[in-house]
Amino acid sequence: MTADAAVRGIREIDPKGSIALIGKESHPPYDRPPLSKKLWQGKPMESIWRKTEALDVSLHLGRLAETLDPAQRRVGDDQGTVYTFDKLLLATGGTPRRFAFGDGDILYFRTLEDYRRLRALSDGKQHFAVIEGDSSAPRLPPRWR
Ligand SMILES: Cc1cc2nc3c(=O)[nH]c(=O)nc-3n(C[C@H](O)[C@H](O)[C@H](O)COP(=O)(O)OP(=O)(O)OC[C@H]3O[C@@H](n4cnc5c(N)ncnc54)[C@H](O)[C@@H]3O)c2cc1C
Repeated sequence: MTADAAVRGIREIDPKGSIALIGKESHPPYDRPPLSKKLWQGKPMESIWRKTEALDVSLHLGRLAETLDPAQRRVGDDQGTVYTFDKLLLATGGTPRRFAFGDGDILYFRTLEDYRRLRALSDGKQHFAVIEGDSSAPRLPPRWR
């Protein structure tokens, strides 16, 4: 969402400069809020896409940016591609901390793939416990840390 917003901001002042967006997920930018709200209320999947690609952007999806050389102005991804840049924006967001247990049974709900997985699981009428996060200090019981 931040990357998309940045592209829109750049395009407002520079309609022509080249922009590349490198993203780990295989999807173009989308809104995350509907993953836990509107999609469950029947809003169509098409409503989540931010349509960044319409802004004359090169999307390099399914690629993890692994190396950054600020002096040479280069970024390298996990497929061996090296990108050069004049200006770089890091919009890497946040990643949930993971428990040391329960990998297969815990869904760290962040992405469209997580939504699809939860949807499939809920169609199977399984029982769930939901733990909500808080952006302030963590309040996990000591035994979970
Ligand atoms: C289910 C859900 C519901 C939400 N609902 C609301 C809401 O109702 N209201 C609200 O205000 N906020 C909500 N949020 C929070 C909101 O979605 C986030 O604040 C927002 O997604 C932050 O956007 P971001 O682009 O900064 O980071 P992120 O969404 O975390 O995106 C960062 C992207 O960078 C990619 N990335 C990270 N490292 C690399 C790398 N090295 N190379 C390539 N790519 C990389 C990640 O894969 C990810 O796609 C919700 C979040 C979720 C998960």
